[in-house]
Amino acid sequence: MVDEILLKLARYPFLREAKEYVRREAPSIQELLVDPIYERARSIGVERVDNAFEKGDVGNRSLVTNGDCLMELFSYPIARMITICIDDSYLKRRYALGEAVHMYRNLIREKPSFILDLSKEFNLDARYIDEKLSIYFTDYLRYAPTRYRKWKMINREMIQGYITISSRDLARILQEALRERINQELDTMSCNEYVNQIFSSDIDRIKSKVRKLRRKIEETPIGKLEVEYLPPCIKNILDAIQSGENVPHIGRFALVSFLNGLKLSRDEIIAVFSRAPDFEEEKTRYQIEHITGVSSSTKYTPPGCDKMRTYGLCPLEERVDLCKEISHPLSYYKIKWKRRK
Ligand code: SF4
Repeated sequence: MVDEILLKLARYPFLREAKEYVRREAPSIQELLVDPIYERARSIGVERVDNAFEKGDVGNRSLVTNGDCLMELFSYPIARMITICIDDSYLKRRYALGEAVHMYRNLIREKPSFILDLSKEFNLDARYIDEKLSIYFTDYLRYAPTRYRKWKMINREMIQGYITISSRDLARILQEALRERINQELDTMSCNEYVNQIFSSDIDRIKSKVRKLRRKIEETPIGKLEVEYLPPCIKNILDAIQSGENVPHIGRFALVSFLNGLKLSRDEIIAVFSRAPDFEEEKTRYQIEHITGVSSSTKYTPPGCDKMRTYGLCPLEERVDLCKEISHPLSYYKIKWKRRK
């Protein structure tokens, strides 16, 4: 019979409880990385990264024995170490998403009490209010995808500052909280040279897959957009989005309104964002339709160079001579277009 606690830690290896268990029971890093007993944990670690990259979910494996659970649990720190050594922002974002989506898919099969308990892991103030599962509105606003109508505060019941929520929606909030946590952790950790050596062939293989994808992204034409005519500011935002870097809302806004100004269709603009590792079509479509005036009463115009500077989006050190002749990124593109050949 499989140990219930071990099964929980294998399914949710990011838990503090799981980290403590690994610290207490796991072999040394050296053993974990070379001892034949942990070969299965190492191969699952690689599989987690591969699956996250290819499928957007680190994947399910059989957890019917305590041994299965242990290998699954130990594979989590290994997968993270490998991801860090690959050192690619796109892959890191993709991996974080893969772990978070995997947790969500497990979580929606759990009892509400379990999901409520797990929310403590992320310091979320979730509880029962008047026998209804609820979350404090500031925590809700931090993680809920409020761009969708269903998630807007106005469409939610609020009792004493707590938003009533289904257990499935609470699981979705936890998905976002985990994704954010893993992203932050991966960005602050550095590669262990020993891991780099042990997994060198897998690291090289995955790096090469990521490079291929990046090349494909760069070479695939984006509708009628000529990437080489883009001004440095817009090119930087585009590169950051396609690399999976965290681009602030104002950057996304500048890019969408710029592309809209070039008369790209909504589908062509969505295609630009579809290359991001954490692309969600519905969310992107909503944002684009809002900025381009399809779903709002305002059609936003793209910011000029002055505003771009105010927003911190004009890369002063990367400006080129043409930047001195214009006052709007759109003019840059149009001049480049006219001067082609
Ligand atoms: S000067 Fe204008 S066009 Fe050039 S990089 Fe800055 S904002 Fe972009």
